[in-house]
Amino acid sequence: MSRGADDAAARVRDLRDAIRHHEERYYIQNDPEISDDEFDRLLHELEQLEADNPDLIAADSPTQRVAGSPIEGFATVEHLMPMLSLDNAYGEDELRAFDDRVRKGAGVGSAAVGYVAELKIDGLSIALTYEDGRLARGATRGDGFRGEEVTANVRTIRAIPLRLRGHVQGRVEVRGEVYLPRAAFARMNQQREVAGEPPFANPRNAAAGTMRNLSPVLVSKRGLSAFTYQLVSLASGGESAEPPGARLHSATLTTMRAWGLPVERHWQPCAGIDEVIAYCQTWAGKRLGLDFDTDGVVVKVDDLAVRERLGSTAKFPRWATAFKFPARQGTTTLRRIAVNVGRTGAVTPYAVLDPIFLAGSTISMATLHNAEDVARKDLREGDRVLIEKGGDVIPKVVKPILPHPEGAVAWQMPAACPVCSSPLRRDEEEVVWRCENTSCPARIQRSLEHFASRSAMNIEGLGESLIEQLIAQGLVRDFADLYKLDATQLENLVVTPREPKSDRSRPRKLGKVGRNVIEQIERSKTNDLSRLIYGVGIRHVGEKAAATLARHFRTMEGVLRASAEMLHTVPEIGPVVAASVRAFADESRNRELVARLQGEGLNMVSQAPPPTSQPGPLAGKVFVLTGTLSDMSREQATEALERLGAKVAGSVSKKTSYLVAGADAGSKLEKARALGVETLDEQAFLQLIIKAS
Ligand SMILES: [Zn+2]
Repeated sequence: MSRGADDAAARVRDLRDAIRHHEERYYIQNDPEISDDEFDRLLHELEQLEADNPDLIAADSPTQRVAGSPIEGFATVEHLMPMLSLDNAYGEDELRAFDDRVRKGAGVGSAAVGYVAELKIDGLSIALTYEDGRLARGATRGDGFRGEEVTANVRTIRAIPLRLRGHVQGRVEVRGEVYLPRAAFARMNQQREVAGEPPFANPRNAAAGTMRNLSPVLVSKRGLSAFTYQLVSLASGGESAEPPGARLHSATLTTMRAWGLPVERHWQPCAGIDEVIAYCQTWAGKRLGLDFDTDGVVVKVDDLAVRERLGSTAKFPRWATAFKFPARQGTTTLRRIAVNVGRTGAVTPYAVLDPIFLAGSTISMATLHNAEDVARKDLREGDRVLIEKGGDVIPKVVKPILPHPEGAVAWQMPAACPVCSSPLRRDEEEVVWRCENTSCPARIQRSLEHFASRSAMNIEGLGESLIEQLIAQGLVRDFADLYKLDATQLENLVVTPREPKSDRSRPRKLGKVGRNVIEQIERSKTNDLSRLIYGVGIRHVGEKAAATLARHFRTMEGVLRASAEMLHTVPEIGPVVAASVRAFADESRNRELVARLQGEGLNMVSQAPPPTSQPGPLAGKVFVLTGTLSDMSREQATEALERLGAKVAGSVSKKTSYLVAGADAGSKLEKARALGVETLDEQAFLQLIIKAS
């Protein structure tokens, strides 16, 4: 296909702008706006145009560099050998074209070339240096020449041996990929959601974000894993150097495994390109059953002598290519944009789609994240839309296929809650719209699901559909109502299971199941206080914050009575959580609810050991309090001071460090002045406490 020179130049300019924009989103911000396939297609098109019009090639074209630049915070290290990327192959034809180039370059005529096919791990590339068998350094790929030194983080990944098995002498560089298994990814996003943080878009971004974290302790908890797939032994000095004596890459993989390195086990030697193609076809479907994301197959020439003959271009080795699996994308019609109401009242839009079969399952709904996302993509009801199944099973709407149908209008968040009709509101700093009606049935449903969940009160058997029935039949309106239920009520409760096709879908009595649920509810009364604090669903209070609050304040009463200043003095409790706890406690409805739970016999006391007593920041200081403080009671002030290690005395003496004088301070203030003891008014006192915390 030929184009006019002006057309080509304009298109090249547009492509470069688009690619730079997406590179930034992908490589630097870890927040891509388009799928990897779409990005690759843009790059592919640009490469093609530049190949056809060599005078358009410029040093600053995105095709002229390997990838992004390192981020501040880690030392930059030079790679001993450049970490080249691989050329891509889309479909069977491009694999055959690759094979033709290889056979021609290797001069083998019509004879078949032996390949090794490996699943391509969708993670973060790393280079590991071993010195005399010991892990000496780990570095990210960076721009291919210089990466970030992440040794401390790499060491926390259990799949990576700190010492190789056998006697491996000299310096060896091992290359591989750090990735986040799907289960760890799901767990991590769940925790982020609970903590009110935005979820990661996919495991690759989560792994990259984690490797860039400056705290190895945190990294070790994220569940990263790794696979290695290449050796660069400096003794023999080449990009594809292999262990001494090895002639085949397949032998190297076996050696690496023998050394204790993680090698993905599904790799396969192939006697020619036909076997490679069969392997790619098999895994295009089977990969969904793996516990990690793979976006293709790496095809490498097995014979190392042939590799040497082929060599590399400036960017790619000629002896390898990355086959990309067909996109798990499709187009369908966006029927309707509906909204879902969550536990905190957060209202989030989702797409109702004409059912479409994609990568093994029928999709009729997809997430739309938030109203801004819908506006940015300009999704309208009636649009043809591009749907993509990512690494996880929840599909997403990538974009509308323009133009919009005639008469389609920009979508608006409804003005009222679809469940209870209360007006929706949006906090100024948030993108989230909320239903603020605490009696909204949708909120009650989600709150109860959260209360009963495994990490909260752990009431087994009390799931979504049972809660729905209990609310519908007027038996439960809040947490406390659960403890009013009795076994007979639940045994006789008539429920209709959800699966419409199953035999068990006829309405039936709960029977024995109901009795078990009552036992579980009863058992939950003895849970530790931390579970209850988490379960009542105070905004921003995740599992960890709940445990911290329980440990510090010991009782529910203590938590609810703590002033914002006192909450501030607790390590790990930030201002947002402190304010949220206060807001919860100030709401009389919440206090009544807690009182009713207490009346039902729920444990309100922490069973965890109290915080270890280290010398606090105010250790050795003696305070005397006098007069009336407006923001806190004398008891609260005392507790805050003691938590910080200070002593609180009853009368002023020479040993007194500070006299805290509230309103109407009397003789103590005079005495302090006489003794030259420093006095603090309430404002100064609060500042001192906040500074010390
Ligand atoms: Zn509502």
